[in-house]
Amino acid sequence: DAVVIGDVNIDLVVVGCNQIPQPGQEIFVDNMMMHVGGGAALFTIALAKLGLHVAFDGVLGNDGYGHYIRERFAGYGIDTSMVRTSGTSRTGITIAINPELDRSFITYVGSNAELHVEELDVGQIALGRHVHVTGYRGRRNHTEFVAMAKRLKEAGATLSCDVGWDDTGEWYSGVFELMQHVDVFLMNETEALHYTGFERIEDSLSYMSGFSPHVVIKLGPQGAAAMKDGLQTMSPGFPVEAVDTTGAGDSFNAGYIYGFLTGLDVETCLLYGNVCGALSVGAYGGSTGTPDREGLEAFIRQ
Ligand code: ADP
Repeated sequence: DAVVIGDVNIDLVVVGCNQIPQPGQEIFVDNMMMHVGGGAALFTIALAKLGLHVAFDGVLGNDGYGHYIRERFAGYGIDTSMVRTSGTSRTGITIAINPELDRSFITYVGSNAELHVEELDVGQIALGRHVHVTGYRGRRNHTEFVAMAKRLKEAGATLSCDVGWDDTGEWYSGVFELMQHVDVFLMNETEALHYTGFERIEDSLSYMSGFSPHVVIKLGPQGAAAMKDGLQTMSPGFPVEAVDTTGAGDSFNAGYIYGFLTGLDVETCLLYGNVCGALSVGAYGGSTGTPDREGLEAFIRQ
């Protein structure tokens, strides 16, 4: 059903670390857990949990972490035949400190730096009905990215994208041009307001609808808003006790795109996204809480 292109890494989630260690200091924490991380990987797992057939396209290191991630993907029934192994870099790692307070990360990009769109096999990728790109680190090569989007469209695939910002900490200057070639464009509130320069989500959505027919903005605990074909829809979030917000955005994206691929209306897509996001923040680890189909339906019924 879908091919996902982007970042994958190991997340080390540190629980109960309420201060950053000073030089020479050792801090003892309650727990440290290893999970599969990276926006694209988390989206892939979330979509596979909902029951879709998903293939992942990214680069792992030739190391134990890479093998571990492949095994975890296989456990979810994810097709890893397009995953490449780097000859030189190790698998990326992110250490997430005190996720229950504010999220602080230490990241080694590793083999993700070797994901280049111009090297992707577009013919193979377009065999998926839908392609989702997120956490792609080579986006300074904007022209190649747009060219790939056009080729995917010509091949009959639909495309969704969540660009965020890249590992240099820079914003993506080509975002408005890219939007014109993407069927569903997703971002969070900070990104939407930054890119458009507006203070209100409504204005931000209206502005972006001049570039893309379908834009979605995630609003954290407040839920999410979308604008499709000139019509704005707002959908409130669900009150849950958040323990780890890692992957909430990717889980939301999976719920939304699941609805989109199932042919559901924007309101239902937003509902699915918010349920997946809420269930995701309720558990430690970026893909632990995100629901399967039954979990999604049960949450909506209650
Ligand atoms: P990102 O992780 O991309 O910054 P958000 O923080 O906006 O995205 O979270 C994505 C989605 O997850 C939200 O749209 C919402 O559905 C859900 N979500 C996030 N935080 C909470 C929370 N504290 N309570 C309930 N739902 C949440």
